[in-house]
Amino acid sequence: MGLGESANGAWRDAAVRETVRQGLVTAERPVAGLLDVRGVRAAAAGLRAAFGGGEVLHAFAVKAAPLVPVLRLLADEGLGAEVASPGELALARAAGVPAERIVLDSPAKTAAELREALALGLAVNADSREELARLDALLAAPGAPEAPAVGIRVNPQVGGGSIGALSTATETSKFGVPLRDEGARRWLVRAYAERPWLTRIHAHVGSQGCPLELMAAGVRDTYELAEEVNRAVGGRRIRTVDIGGGLPVNFASDDVTPTHHDYARLLAARAPGLFDGRYRLVTEFGRSLLAKSGLILARVEYTKSAGGRRIAIAHAGAQVAVRTVFAPASWPLRVAVYDARGLPKSAEPVPQDVAGPCCFAGDLVAVDRMLPRVEAGDHVALLDTGAYYFSNHYAYNTLPRPGVYGCVDDQQADGSPGVRFAIVRPPQTLDELVAEGGAAHAGDLSALR
Ligand SMILES: *Cc1c(COP(=O)(O)O)cnc(C)c1O
Repeated sequence: MGLGESANGAWRDAAVRETVRQGLVTAERPVAGLLDVRGVRAAAAGLRAAFGGGEVLHAFAVKAAPLVPVLRLLADEGLGAEVASPGELALARAAGVPAERIVLDSPAKTAAELREALALGLAVNADSREELARLDALLAAPGAPEAPAVGIRVNPQVGGGSIGALSTATETSKFGVPLRDEGARRWLVRAYAERPWLTRIHAHVGSQGCPLELMAAGVRDTYELAEEVNRAVGGRRIRTVDIGGGLPVNFASDDVTPTHHDYARLLAARAPGLFDGRYRLVTEFGRSLLAKSGLILARVEYTKSAGGRRIAIAHAGAQVAVRTVFAPASWPLRVAVYDARGLPKSAEPVPQDVAGPCCFAGDLVAVDRMLPRVEAGDHVALLDTGAYYFSNHYAYNTLPRPGVYGCVDDQQADGSPGVRFAIVRPPQTLDELVAEGGAAHAGDLSALR
């Protein structure tokens, strides 16, 4: 296991106990997200160490945690930001991430977004031939930057992983310029040869569910195209290779496997030339930097039994765990049970469903799961939810986005607890929900006769 990459879950019990004791989760505010700040820093340090001392920009994939304090924390650790929308860009800028550490990668960038990205000096990866043509026009206009940071996203078409929706390198994926299609390679080499400003190449093979060998094959093919381009132009046209993110996370235990080190080692074996100093590297990891350092804690409101099945009705369901609820086979989560005071429960495990508060029958985060018998007033924790879960809110039943809190455990030598919290995002209020529901326009439909 690599430096700083051992997350063992040790932070959880103290954090949950103090969350309950300090009143961050209560009967009135029954859900919260918790983020272990030291775990995040350790993951970032592990990533930096894995890719060594060369020129590497680690651009955190903002969609995994679009939360300004998280982006700032990661920026403190030397990371940049990978953004895919004006909203994500605004968050990265609000966090103070400098423009030269921001990469824009969306398949649907508007002309205005591209113009702004070029003016700000962001790196831009064109996703399609049409987008490249749009960039041609923008860069030919008066006042265009002399040395823009522009690349092409390729789809190495190496195949998919176990989760179709997250596999971006399939033959027919919507992302990038397909590398293996008839004539594509020739077109790509010419595209670079004709554009002295086109100095980067990008691929992101996929996310959770992709085997490391598949990801490495995609990076190798991308690197080989860069070599072919540079041979064709007789110089170093492509100077930056952006290898994307996608390191899968182990949701089955506290083990961090695979690690950023494992992946970096495999890449060095499959594409050694990538690491010999000729290329500047960019990475875009999201899930692997945060998942293990977060959890969602929810109060249990009631328990019941139906058809012989024990069911706990807790306050964390599809609104905070939409993928787990709708695609449970792809996104299983471990659940830990704590008592009313936030202490770990150790009662004999019995099979139970853990249901959420939403008004549809499938709102279950665990089905027939062996867990210490849950009772009303207990708490359940959805583990490894530090990436994607805090922010992919599903606004069903007008349930509020919960508060998210960062924490550090300063256990004193005498054993007294010293968990300190910082607000990452305050819980959404009823007034905010009502405003989002169009309250300012309450009479407008009735007036439209
Ligand atoms: C989502 C995404 C990432 C991050 O993926 P993770 O699996 O969270 O590491 C990186 N790059 C691009 C282009 C993405 O779409």
